[in-house]
Amino acid sequence: MFNTLQTRFGDVVKHLRGQARLTEENIKDSLRDVRMALLEADVALPVVRDFIEQIRVRALGAEVARSLTPGQVLIKIVHDELVKLMGEVNETLNLNTQPPAVILLAGLQGSGKTTSAAKLARWLQERHKKRVMLTSCDVYRPAAIEQLATLTAEINATFFPSDVHAKPAQIALAALEAAHKQLYDVLIVDTAGRLAIDAMMMTEIQQIHAALNPIETLFVVDSMTGQDAAKTARAFHETLPLTGVILTKADGDARGGAALSIRQLTGQPIKFIGVGEKTAALEPFYPDRLASRILG
Ligand code: GDP
Repeated sequence: MFNTLQTRFGDVVKHLRGQARLTEENIKDSLRDVRMALLEADVALPVVRDFIEQIRVRALGAEVARSLTPGQVLIKIVHDELVKLMGEVNETLNLNTQPPAVILLAGLQGSGKTTSAAKLARWLQERHKKRVMLTSCDVYRPAAIEQLATLTAEINATFFPSDVHAKPAQIALAALEAAHKQLYDVLIVDTAGRLAIDAMMMTEIQQIHAALNPIETLFVVDSMTGQDAAKTARAFHETLPLTGVILTKADGDARGGAALSIRQLTGQPIKFIGVGEKTAALEPFYPDRLASRILG
């Protein structure tokens, strides 16, 4: 991810060579390049506008110390603003509740929800020594339930079998009861995905949410879908309170529009990124690391 951004950003300070200060005049070309790079990365337009304006204001107010070039100062400003845009720090999962802590996963079909459920379970088991139970409420796609059952067995977690004749909220409640009785620390609940957010999906997930009262509701989005990912997350968040986002397929050649737009469009942090198909391919999301990677 971010290869194009990286290449484009590497170029933005070329206009500042030989300059002693940052001025309205000499940062114009650099700002234009930053703008182009962000648009090309499919960052949402309002995000691009705000971002450029922040950089402009800060650049014009910046003192260029003797030891630095105007280019270095500008890059530092861009770095800081990128970090700010993505949410400053890594926001960890909140599991601070009476066990089992319930994590509800939602997302469009194909976003990587089921894989992410297993990845998250593995991460919680390995990093936090949690006992994790998983279940799927996707009664429409037995194959999806099967897929989660298989992945759960692979990572040695516990699968709560779904009754495809039951309502999704009933499955969720039954799993919660079982997790509670069997003293699990965490219950991860996978839900049905659709091709787009629709009324049926929302009603169903609201019912599941009401039944479970999850401490975390994570929206899973595919980074390859760029700013659409952020827009879908926002639409979802308008109906159901999200607590965070898992951005998947960050190992692919996604341009970065999703990662850079989600926080501002939804107000919610990206908590994890998926970096491969395997269950180990999940990483906590660190805005500063990503900003440094973008700026090379
Ligand atoms: P769901 O329909 O949302 O449950 O999506 P799945 O979990 O079935 O994932 C859809 C496809 O995306 C599968 O082929 C996964 O292996 C793949 N996938 C999921 N997450 C990632 C990721 O982070 N990186 C890559 N490269 N592939 C992923």
